Amino acid sequence: MMNPGARFEGVTIALSKGRIFEDTAHLLKAAGITPLADPEHSRQLILPTDRPDVRLVIVRASDVPTYVQYGAADIGVAGKDVLMEHGGGGLYQPLDLQIAKCRLMVAVPQGFDYAGAIRRGARLRVATKYETTARNHFAEKGVHVDLIKLYGSMELAPLTGLADVIVDLVSSGNTLKANRLEAVEEIAAISARLIVNVAAWKLNRSRIAPIVEAFSRGVGLP
Ligand code: ATP
Ligand code: MG
Repeated sequence: MMNPGARFEGVTIALSKGRIFEDTAHLLKAAGITPLADPEHSRQLILPTDRPDVRLVIVRASDVPTYVQYGAADIGVAGKDVLMEHGGGGLYQPLDLQIAKCRLMVAVPQGFDYAGAIRRGARLRVATKYETTARNHFAEKGVHVDLIKLYGSMELAPLTGLADVIVDLVSSGNTLKANRLEAVEEIAAISARLIVNVAAWKLNRSRIAPIVEAFSRGVGLP
């Protein structure tokens, strides 16, 4: 049984702080939802909104699918990178929100002969936060890899000899360049998606569908 404090009759939306929250603000507005606190400045993890039937929960970006999968949140906003790594079980993904756009890429030290290493059948050491996605990518290419799981600053791995290559998000490429790395292969184009708990979508559609529709009307608007 769920603990009584967890009972909330309305719709719970899971978001992460920073980029996702900032880029989602106009979509919330389009849906007539105004948070009553700013997550960047508040320590509150449950944010009420001006609608008593809607609340926000602020979680780590990579935890958003988990909250929605188990129904602790009905709706969430998560990057495709995070969704690929999670697997997407229990999640309905009705909308590409076209925000937080970047690319998931393989990057190497400038001058590293990536194509040659693959051709020779070299065993690559790959450092990444995206273990499952990277494993699948290299398995499809038939490239043997040793995966090294990291939680951040992937760029450092090749510079210190921890790994030969990294799999990481790239937007401008400036961070790679500053660390004398270069992107050599795209794994996926990334943007944030609206996700909905599959059971909530079926059982609580009258409450959830209007929010999804309002978000969809806001996609692409400034
Ligand atoms: P945490 O800080 O909790 O470790 P995180 O670093 O993944 O998580 P963010 O940097 O806010 O958190 O990234 C959240 C999402 O935004 C990512 O999953 C990705 O989809 C997208 N994203 C990350 N970096 C960029 C970027 N440079 N440009 C555009 N979108 C990005
Ligand atoms: Mg980040």
